[in-house]
Amino acid sequence: MTKTTYFSTPLYYVNGEPHMGHAYTTVVADFLVRFHRLAGDDTFFLTGTDEHGEKIYQAAKDSGVETQAYVDGIAATFAEAWERLQISHDDFLRTTESRHTDVVTGVLQKVYDQGDIYYDEYEGTYCVGCERFLTDRELVDGKCPDHNTVPKLRREGNYFFRMENHREWLANHIRETPDFIRPVGYANEILSILSEPIGDLSISRPRTRVPWGIPLPWDEDHVTYVWFDALLNYVSALGYPEGDLYKKYWGSARHLIGKDILKTHAIFWPTMLRAMGAPVYAGLNVGGFLMGPDGQKMSKSLGNVVDPFVLAQRYSSDAVRYYLIKDVPYGQDSNIGESALVDRYNADLANDLGNLVSRVRALLLRHTDGKLPEAVATPTEQEIIDQALSLHGTVADLVGQLRFWAALEEVMQFVRRLNRYFNDEEPWKLAKAADGAERLGTVLYCCVEGLRIVSILLEPALPSKVKDLRQSLALPGGDLEATRQWGLAPVGAKIPETADILFPKAEAPETDEAETENAPVATPGSKKGASKKSDSAPPAAEPDVEEEQISIDDFFRVQMRVAEVVRAEAVPKTDKLLKLELLVGDEQRTVVSGIAQFYDPDDLAGRRVVLVANLKPAKLRGIVSQGMILAAEDAEGNLALVEPDKQLPSGATVR
Ligand SMILES: [Zn+2]
Repeated sequence: MTKTTYFSTPLYYVNGEPHMGHAYTTVVADFLVRFHRLAGDDTFFLTGTDEHGEKIYQAAKDSGVETQAYVDGIAATFAEAWERLQISHDDFLRTTESRHTDVVTGVLQKVYDQGDIYYDEYEGTYCVGCERFLTDRELVDGKCPDHNTVPKLRREGNYFFRMENHREWLANHIRETPDFIRPVGYANEILSILSEPIGDLSISRPRTRVPWGIPLPWDEDHVTYVWFDALLNYVSALGYPEGDLYKKYWGSARHLIGKDILKTHAIFWPTMLRAMGAPVYAGLNVGGFLMGPDGQKMSKSLGNVVDPFVLAQRYSSDAVRYYLIKDVPYGQDSNIGESALVDRYNADLANDLGNLVSRVRALLLRHTDGKLPEAVATPTEQEIIDQALSLHGTVADLVGQLRFWAALEEVMQFVRRLNRYFNDEEPWKLAKAADGAERLGTVLYCCVEGLRIVSILLEPALPSKVKDLRQSLALPGGDLEATRQWGLAPVGAKIPETADILFPKAEAPETDEAETENAPVATPGSKKGASKKSDSAPPAAEPDVEEEQISIDDFFRVQMRVAEVVRAEAVPKTDKLLKLELLVGDEQRTVVSGIAQFYDPDDLAGRRVVLVANLKPAKLRGIVSQGMILAAEDAEGNLALVEPDKQLPSGATVR
């Protein structure tokens, strides 16, 4: 039976234009949805805009526009933004639509009729930014921690939803459902809040103060509190309570949110559903905050705003999607910036993936008349085939664990394996050898077929670039099923004579301020640069096919030092990795190295190794690895550490 899945982004609040936070959550949701579609699931994907409330009323007033016209304008910018990032939603709901407001009215009446809503006068500290009363416990130095403003003392008559009644049930549900809130740290945060009374939820605002909202069906002098209205979008879009979509998809609902709206989604929303008599959603996936390149919260005044749409224009929307999924560990706070995007783009896409495609294409055009050749697999190819066919399982597991970056890394490891294979087999030499034709065909076919599988597994991240890739190699598309089979690249198919370079190398901007308009950057998204079509006609020489050469300047960018191993230990739950404590001059470094199968940790202390010292730190199994140590590898994959031949002091330069 086909599995159904339902994913949603938050409905974004239209008091401002779409920014990186919105883009990140939406790109991750789209990646997940596309992955589930590839797996053959029957999916539904919802996004939209939240258009009621005091802040929006205020924002419209400030810009001197009538409120409806104001929200129409901003909703349109969101719709357009998602088009630019290739978001493949099935529905875009706006909370000012009657299909939504009717559901809100119906739910309010039902919950009111059953006695779960009551009227009370309340006096407390009210944050306009949050649009709610804050408890004393929530204040930090008398201020709202989210808005850094002193809330106003406010007294008003409001309707309250008996949320406290559901507290114990919710806590039990969270404890009994391990996948309910992920990553698990956020579930623990909510359980801690639920360990003390949460009180009841004020769900109305006096109309005299906030005229922009859905009137309560039994009291026209009040409008619905924006969250009690907005959260219902997740069911109103499906035609709750009787709609077919609701019956089909609601049971599999997984919401993607940022951690700033954790409480509303993890406490308000499930208790509302419970009071409505509806089943609670299946899961809540919580993303962390994205900071500017300087590690500070993005703000115009700091000049560290990273604009996803500017980046998409410069480097293509595929590049932005890939970067966000690959470089931000889902659930954690992360620094992002244009330079880091360029580094990631050049390393993974331009060098590893794009170069391989160009080199394979060039040899096909030159030596097989542009036709995909027959292959006669030897044990070398069999090893690659086995690796290729096991990829989908690993990738699916990692996606299921929300370790999206690791899923992409798994595919890129395989791309790097293909590159090594290509270099080792030296097909440009086979082409010149008298009896090399069969091996040449085999090597090229193996690369092409490997790239076919790669293109499918990367499709959720790079939806348009993988189509270009497949076109340039005459490859069919396919679903996950098509990655479990080897040999679907059609032998004899002819590749096009010309193709744009898939990922032209990008240049890093000089500063990381996204708003610097004249930063010197390449624009791989544009197809205008005539000089970039270098893989179209086969040139006389073969510079792009043989092993790539680098300049001495490139080489000197790598800083290598002699380092002394202070101690080494095995990394738990893996048989490949060792954690090494190194001394580099007077500096201590921790490095994770994949040499566990070749060295006993106890034999390493005191040895001198060569450390790549200016490698960007990377997290491996939860350990931040500050560099890489050099090892030589033989054909069987055995590793031997590179050591200086004389005793040099630790910290000595290697070049
Ligand atoms: Zn606030």
